[in-house]
Amino acid sequence: MSLETRVETAPAERLYGVCDYYDAESLLTEDERRVLGRLRDFLDREAKPLLADYWERGEFPAQLARPLIDLDIMEPAELRGPGAGNGPARGIYQGFRIFELARTDASLATWYTAQAGLFRTAIRVGASAQQQAQWMPKVIDFSLKGVFSLTEPESGSDIAGGLSTTARRDPNGDTWVLHGAKRWIGGAATADVLAVFARDVVDGQVKAFLVDREAAGVTLEKIQRKTSLRMMQNAHITLDGVRVPESMRLHNVNSFKDVAAMLRAMRSDVAWIATGIQAGAFEAALRYVRERHQFGRPLGSFQLVQEKLARMLGNLTASLSLVVRLTEQQSRGVYRDQDSALAKMQSCLAMRETVALARELAGGNGITLESDVARFHADAEAVYSYEGTHEINALIVGRALTGESAFTR
Ligand SMILES: Cc1cc2nc3c(=O)[nH]c(=O)nc-3n(C[C@H](O)[C@H](O)[C@H](O)COP(=O)(O)OP(=O)(O)OC[C@H]3O[C@@H](n4cnc5c(N)ncnc54)[C@H](O)[C@@H]3O)c2cc1C
Repeated sequence: MSLETRVETAPAERLYGVCDYYDAESLLTEDERRVLGRLRDFLDREAKPLLADYWERGEFPAQLARPLIDLDIMEPAELRGPGAGNGPARGIYQGFRIFELARTDASLATWYTAQAGLFRTAIRVGASAQQQAQWMPKVIDFSLKGVFSLTEPESGSDIAGGLSTTARRDPNGDTWVLHGAKRWIGGAATADVLAVFARDVVDGQVKAFLVDREAAGVTLEKIQRKTSLRMMQNAHITLDGVRVPESMRLHNVNSFKDVAAMLRAMRSDVAWIATGIQAGAFEAALRYVRERHQFGRPLGSFQLVQEKLARMLGNLTASLSLVVRLTEQQSRGVYRDQDSALAKMQSCLAMRETVALARELAGGNGITLESDVARFHADAEAVYSYEGTHEINALIVGRALTGESAFTR
């Protein structure tokens, strides 16, 4: 069936049309699709008109934050009603929520996922049952906004061994004192608390603390002059003798193994982001080649252009199939380092090619913000590197395949 036929015969009520070539959307319930449709309407109406301008200024469109939170998409009420189960929203819904956000804009997806993915995972995996009861409802309604502060200026890829922020328990009371620095922390400027990972000077193990952003000794600096994800704000954080009560330590984080358990869940979210970016870039390119004429014909009528479209669709479809299958596996409780590492690595490789082809298809217009492809193309680079670079995820897969760790520590 040709692309064209497929587009025309897609049922009107399908949300993703040709972007979801093998109809993964059919795994969603009607209620889940309705919530995603609500998100789609909001993004089309309120967000899209702002994106190019805010990207160029390097600012986050703060006016979108409250309405996006109020859309109630993290744990939507209709997915918790009778018959829908009271547990968390299903993994497949959560995946498509990220896909929908990233299909519109990678910074918006990263901003939302900093709370719904990174910070929420830190609490879900790291907090004790009692702490979770206290904090999780506030995480879900954003009344407690947090960020995940792991990376350091001198330790990115080798953070497991190289983490050098220290935590010392004050012998005179139930307080810890933190010293060190964190880098690249997304969303820190507007967070209430920073989930900071630090090494206990006594037992040498990594522990985690919720640090009040306004606490004495905390300094935040915005990382300037970024050429990727310009709307998303990243901070360089300095911690100079910051005092944190024991009650704000995440009681279930007792070594880097607990951090690794968080990364397993977070990397699959990034694979969904990389897939959503491909969908956005592909759709924009497809629109463009239908509208733009050269040699008296639409660009889309040329064989070499069609080959690029087919490659992009192949990349997107392979990535979507990968993340859907991974999500199904994780929904059954199967979490393995190598599985999410493979999905993050492979979806990002595909993303890099897809966004480059989209940019190429838009010719000169593909390097201006007037075309969406330029934004997707630039933003993909940050997604390619965060949450474990290509090499680090490949080494995690390689370790599982061979039983040999190629990491030097
Ligand atoms: C936009 C953005 C948002 C981010 N958000 C957050 C956040 O919210 N919280 C957080 O904690 N962190 C965040 N990060 C940090 C991110 O996870 C790191 O940038 C990433 O892990 C890579 O670390 P690095 O930048 O220090 O690169 P480095 O570790 O210095 O790596 C540089 C290059 O060397 C390669 N390399 C390193 N070691 C090896 C090896 N053993 N073998 C082969 N190649 C190797 C890498 O793959 C890479 O290509 C963010 C980063 C960005 C860019």
